Amino acid sequence: MAAKYVTKHILLVEDEKNIARFIELELKHEQFDVTIRYNGREGLQEALKEENHFDVILLDVMLPELNGIEVCRRIRSHSQVPIILITARDAVMDRVAGLDAGADDYIVKPFAIEELLARLRSILRRVNPEKDQTLLQYKNIKINQDAYCAYVDEQLIGLTKTEFDLLSLLIHNKNRVCTRDQILENVWGYQSDVETNVVDVYIRHLRSKLPKETSSYIETVRGVGYVMRE
Ligand code: CA
Repeated sequence: MAAKYVTKHILLVEDEKNIARFIELELKHEQFDVTIRYNGREGLQEALKEENHFDVILLDVMLPELNGIEVCRRIRSHSQVPIILITARDAVMDRVAGLDAGADDYIVKPFAIEELLARLRSILRRVNPEKDQTLLQYKNIKINQDAYCAYVDEQLIGLTKTEFDLLSLLIHNKNRVCTRDQILENVWGYQSDVETNVVDVYIRHLRSKLPKETSSYIETVRGVGYVMRE
């Protein structure tokens, strides 16, 4: 059952160990699996191993042994895996050469981790649009919208359709407060004459079905609505 939620696996090829470590920690925090190689030759080897299936390759340009442009070109002659180049500031020629060599995108050092994550999400959406829409995740909660299944720590949680829709909505809007009216409109439908306090009742049902710590992610914003956050 857990296999439905295939964790995205990123190959990071970066010779500066502190940068590599930093990116690795951030990506792991976002639930990616990360493999690191510290030079171009090993990065290329790792990328082309048959048993590996990377979802995205993050490739520094200035690498020892084999530069990133060359690694990119050689990967591209075997594989369509998405490649994001990490280039130095002002290295316009690198970017042009990288895109010519088959890179899908590039990011310029120094970059904010949020920008890298946004580029990763964007590339993953392009590669796999359907999967991205039907699988939602927040912390240890995973939702398969196709199958109407919700999991906490990979354990199936028995929810009614309304509870399921409510949880999906909150996760979809994580860290953004949903007002009771917005929740009614989205879960019960526009024309619904259900009272807004029904939302509170269903939130209570939903919380009671989640493990204690997980249920505390659903935060009450007094007089407004609810938000999914820690
Ligand atoms: Ca480098």
